[in-house]
Amino acid sequence: MKRTRILPILLAAILLIAAIPFGIAAATSDTAQGPRTGSNVAIRSEGETMTAPKYVFLFIGDGMTYPQFQTASAYLSINADKDTILTTSEMLNFMKFPVSGSATTYDSTSFCPDSASTATSIASGHKTYSGVLNMNEAKNKTYTTIAESLKAAGYKIGIISSVNLNHATPAAFYAHQASRNNYYEIGLELIASNFDYFAGGALLKPTGDKSEDVQPDLYDLATAGGYKVVKTQAEAQALTADAGKAIVIAEDLADSNSMNYEIDRADTAWALKDYVQQGITMLNNDKGFFMMVEGGKIDWACHANDAGSTIHDTIALADAVQVAIDFASEHPDETLILVTGDHETGGLSIGYAGTNYNTYLKNINYQTISYAKYDADYVAKYVENKTPFADAMKDVAALFGLVMPAQADTAANKTLVLTDYEVAELKKAYDITLKGGFGTDANGKSLQTAEEYIQYGTYTPFSVTVTHLLNNKSGINFSSYSHTGLPAAVYASGVGQELFVGGYDNTDIYNKMAQLLGIQ
Ligand SMILES: [Zn+2]
Repeated sequence: MKRTRILPILLAAILLIAAIPFGIAAATSDTAQGPRTGSNVAIRSEGETMTAPKYVFLFIGDGMTYPQFQTASAYLSINADKDTILTTSEMLNFMKFPVSGSATTYDSTSFCPDSASTATSIASGHKTYSGVLNMNEAKNKTYTTIAESLKAAGYKIGIISSVNLNHATPAAFYAHQASRNNYYEIGLELIASNFDYFAGGALLKPTGDKSEDVQPDLYDLATAGGYKVVKTQAEAQALTADAGKAIVIAEDLADSNSMNYEIDRADTAWALKDYVQQGITMLNNDKGFFMMVEGGKIDWACHANDAGSTIHDTIALADAVQVAIDFASEHPDETLILVTGDHETGGLSIGYAGTNYNTYLKNINYQTISYAKYDADYVAKYVENKTPFADAMKDVAALFGLVMPAQADTAANKTLVLTDYEVAELKKAYDITLKGGFGTDANGKSLQTAEEYIQYGTYTPFSVTVTHLLNNKSGINFSSYSHTGLPAAVYASGVGQELFVGGYDNTDIYNKMAQLLGIQ
């Protein structure tokens, strides 16, 4: 009696274990009736084919992984006056996707890799050296990207980035270069890609290296190559699918001709989400589309240890994801949305000794300008005008909320009153900044001391000290000015989402997309 009861249970258990690789097929067996156009049957038993999504959105937060979106979601959780008692926990939209995975990010040379190699892994499924785009380590072989394969298969292709369109991450979807710094050559490949919609920050070095003979302007070459090139928002808004191939450059550009940080963006200026919405207008067609959208300035903000800008740009990426979610709700059986990052930047974490590990994320609200814009619009003038420290600190109070001890009585937020130690740190950094930073010796070698390099990275000492203090008084800390080795999060929603569950390597993000989309 016992045995006959145990056997079916054992059998059931064995069948269950055997079914795990196809577990999702079992879970969706009500729809698993064989391939049909537009069906969402993603995983089938061996021999059966998968239905490819017609619309694919791939969002990449550059420098964004768990710390960035966790901090952004924590910020949203406390934003309604709840610094100490958490009664709600906000999650960014993609954090609630039905499937999540985790991807290792190391490349052929580094455990804290760069965007060129990691985006290559995502775009074409290969490891390579940091700095290399879709070429092998020997730099004598090129790799075909998912976007190129899909273009050949009839999909329309969109590439959107808040940084320059020939920067490493967007370039990884159309370029094959030994160095990510070959901006002009990357620009030539952008034009040659024949992709349908490029939008975001301006091209770097559109006429090549200034030191050499000026080469033909990339925008002119793009126009000659059949692209409609627009550089104003009014023109961008007027674009319809009839325009054909288009390159849309954001009208008001910021540092390095990238789009503004979200924290600096004028209300009337298009956000990342608006370029995604326009992309849908431009790309929607019967054969489907693939759209890669990069939140590129999350990385730049983290390099600069600017937590406020990091949070706002991460939320801007989630806003862009929402456009895809809304589109998917109208095309539920035909759309796949992936949200991932290429690597972590900054070694960002919540929890700082100076606040005794309490968080005061609301303090981030006092920051109303990015580090980069503060540096360009204010600190440059302090240096030029030899502005007294006390005057600079008035700007710091107005733009970052940090107030001098003498103003403690009138300070709106007591946790933002500077200690004498913090004022001394600011004064030290201010003096170095006014001297013109660190300078270089006759041989071009940096005169920065080892201590200064640890403390300020390669950033303006005063500005970076200001953001450090606001971060720390919010309970946030950074441990690096560059990339770290944390795994990338992968969130998936829609057709084929099941493929992205679990732990794997970042090259498998490509492999899974290729499998799903029928690319060899
Ligand atoms: Zn970076």
